[in-house]
Amino acid sequence: MLSPLAPRTLVDTHTHTSFSDGDATFEENARAAVAAGCAVLVSTDHLTLPAVMDPAGAVQVVESDLAAHRAAFDAAAAAHPELEMIYGFECDWYEGCEERIAAWSAGAQVRLGSVHWLGDIDDGAWIDDVDDQHIWRELGPDEVWRRYAETWCRACDCALFDTMAHPDLAQRFSCAGFAPTIDLAPLWDQMAEAARDTGVRVELSTAAWRKGLSDYYPAEGLLARFQRAEVPLTVGSDAHVARDICRGIADAYAHAARMGYRHVEVPRADGSWERMPL
Ligand SMILES: [Zn+2]
Ligand SMILES: [Zn+2]
Repeated sequence: MLSPLAPRTLVDTHTHTSFSDGDATFEENARAAVAAGCAVLVSTDHLTLPAVMDPAGAVQVVESDLAAHRAAFDAAAAAHPELEMIYGFECDWYEGCEERIAAWSAGAQVRLGSVHWLGDIDDGAWIDDVDDQHIWRELGPDEVWRRYAETWCRACDCALFDTMAHPDLAQRFSCAGFAPTIDLAPLWDQMAEAARDTGVRVELSTAAWRKGLSDYYPAEGLLARFQRAEVPLTVGSDAHVARDICRGIADAYAHAARMGYRHVEVPRADGSWERMPL
């Protein structure tokens, strides 16, 4: 039996390696986590995708690398008994994804659910691609937001995800010419209701700060709604480089506490989820 974590123990539930679109090895991430004082590190590379969504295999762990990915994780975990390392994936939601996700992520303990893609598999677009923002220009930010929220609520309902990563990723370019003009409150209400009704957790992500935004993912208005709806919270950095592991997590705990959260939820190496006091 694992001993319970002390309040505000450093935990990072969202991290990447160079197997997907990160820039570090499992070993480098593990060393950075130990140096930062991290107790539990969840590895969540982007899961394998249908070829049409990522033809170059640039952002995902391609299917032929899945076994090597697992082996590299296991080697780093064995080399760092002082750190609790947990194997997971960040899984994109798209139409018809459920069977693919279940097959490609077999053996994972944690599945983050993400909406980065809007539209059909063969006729959609990434909403967070700095090199290709055509969906933002064509639909405009208000319509991207509406479709994002609708897609996100459907993703909550697929019963595969432990926690929903960066719940309002549609904020991504709001300081870069694509801010919504509509009142987001009705969309936030729908999102909080979907999370509550489906029993999914949501992530408080420190990554938004590194993207030049002036709030977390989710923004305060949405986080307040999640809190009122008693939706459990996980906290992650979404680190793509080793130096960002655990970055901002202590501040995020304080922010969550200010917003009324008394606990965050943490996956443990025995397969359980623990409520850690803030
Ligand atoms: Zn993501
Ligand atoms: Zn991520």
